[in-house]
Amino acid sequence: MFKDKKIFILGMGKSGFSVAKLLATDNHVLLTDVKCDNTNMVDELEKLGVNVIITKDQDKLLDDSYDYVVKNPGVRLDHPVVLKAKKFNIPVITELEVAYRYLPDVKIVGITGSNGKTTTTTIIYEFLKAAGVSVHLAGNIGFPLCSQISDIHDNDVLVVEISSHQLANLDTFKVDIAVLTNLYPVHLDFFGTFDNYKLDKLRIFNNQDENSVAILNKNNKDVFELTKKIPAHKLYFTSNGKADICIENGSIFYKDEEVLELSDIRVKGVHNYENIMAAILAAKQFNVSNEVIKEVLNNFAGVEHRIEFVRKLNGREFYNDSKATNTESTITALKSFDNDVILILGGLDRGHSFEPLLPYLKNVRHIVCFGETKERIKKFALDNGIDVTVADNLEEATKASYNISLEGDTILLSPACASWDQYNNFEERGREFKEIVNKLV
Ligand code: ADP
Repeated sequence: MFKDKKIFILGMGKSGFSVAKLLATDNHVLLTDVKCDNTNMVDELEKLGVNVIITKDQDKLLDDSYDYVVKNPGVRLDHPVVLKAKKFNIPVITELEVAYRYLPDVKIVGITGSNGKTTTTTIIYEFLKAAGVSVHLAGNIGFPLCSQISDIHDNDVLVVEISSHQLANLDTFKVDIAVLTNLYPVHLDFFGTFDNYKLDKLRIFNNQDENSVAILNKNNKDVFELTKKIPAHKLYFTSNGKADICIENGSIFYKDEEVLELSDIRVKGVHNYENIMAAILAAKQFNVSNEVIKEVLNNFAGVEHRIEFVRKLNGREFYNDSKATNTESTITALKSFDNDVILILGGLDRGHSFEPLLPYLKNVRHIVCFGETKERIKKFALDNGIDVTVADNLEEATKASYNISLEGDTILLSPACASWDQYNNFEERGREFKEIVNKLV
C-alpha cells in the first residue's frame, strides 16, 4: 500500500487514470500528460485531489521530493522524466506494480510473449470461469488491475496479460504461474536489441521460486534457451514433438492422457493450438476437467479481430483478421487455411514489402486490395502471377471478394497493413468489415 507518498504519474490513458484514482485518497498525486482530450477524466481526478497538469515540459515538474514515478508502459525508457528520476534515485514503476501492493491473498497467472498473449489470456480466463473459479481478467488486455482492486478477494485468481513494456518496470510483482508463449525480434525500437528484449521478458520470472510454475514453448529456441536457469517448475507445450502437453494423432495429450481432439476446437491454426495448449497447462494447475476444457473450446470462436469467424454465406466462410497489421501476422493467418482463399489486403503505407507473403499464397486464388498500399499490392500480385482486384474502400473490397468467390472458399480480411490511413484503429476496421459481411445477401 502507498500512504502519504508523493507520487508523479507520467501519462494518462486508462492505466494512468486508474492508478491515480487508486492512489489519490491516501497520497499526494500529480498526473501529467502532453495532451488529454477527455475532460471528464480530468474533472474526476481533480475532484479526488489529483493535480493534473497538461504540458510538454513534464521533466520540469519533477524534483527530488517525489517518492515514486509511475510511468505509463508506452512511455520510452529514455524519456526525460525517467532519466531525471534515475538521477534523483526515485523508483520508476508501472500501474501493475502499484496494483500488486494492494492485492489480498490471490493467485496470479501472468501471460507474456511476442504473439498470442491476448488469445492465451482469454482462453485461460474462459477455462477458469467455466470451472467456477472466482477469476478476474486484467492487464494489457484493456482492464487495468488498479481499477479492479475493490472487487478482488482472498483466494481469487487473476489472469493478467503482461506486455514487454509493462514488464520493464515491475519490481516486487510475483507471478505464481507464468506463461511465455514465444519470442520473436519485435519492439526493437523500444528495447534497442533482441537481447535486451529477451532480458526484459525474463522479468516475468522475477520473484518466482521453486513453488512457482513456468509454462514454456518448447518449440521456440529462444524461449527454451532463455529460461534454462529459472527456479520455477517448468511445464512445456509444443506443436511439434513430445512435451508435457503436445499433439499426437489429431488429439491434444496432457501427460499421456487425451484431453480433446483437434476437431473439437473451433479456432483455426497451429498457432492457436499452441495458445490452447499453454492455456490447458495453466488450467490444469487449478484442476479444470477435460469436459470443461472441451466445452469452452467447442464454443470459443477466437478473440475479436484475430482470425475471427464472422459468418458462413452460400458456402463461403468470412474471417476477420484486422489485427494483422504486418506481413508476419498475415502469414500466420494464411497458414491456418488449407482451402482456397480470397485475401483482402491493404491499408497504411509504411513502405514495407509484401514479398514475405509470397511462399504462403499457394491457396490464395485472388487478392483484393484497398487503402494507401493498393497500387503497390496490385503490382506485387501481377509481378507474381496472382489475380488481383483493386477496390476504393473496404466495402467495395468485401463485395468484390464475395462476387469473385466460389462455394467452399474462405474470404479473409488480413490486411498486412495498419489501419490508420482510413480508420482510428484496427478494431474500427474489423467492426466495419463484420457489418458489411453481415449485410451481404
Ligand atoms: P498479442 O496479444 O500477443 O498481440 P494476440 O493473441 O492478440 O497476440 O494475436 C495477435 C496475432 O498474433 C494473431 O492474429 C496471430 O496472427 C498471431 N498469433 C497469435 N498467437 C500466436 C502464436 N502462438 N504464435 C505466433 N503467432 C500468433
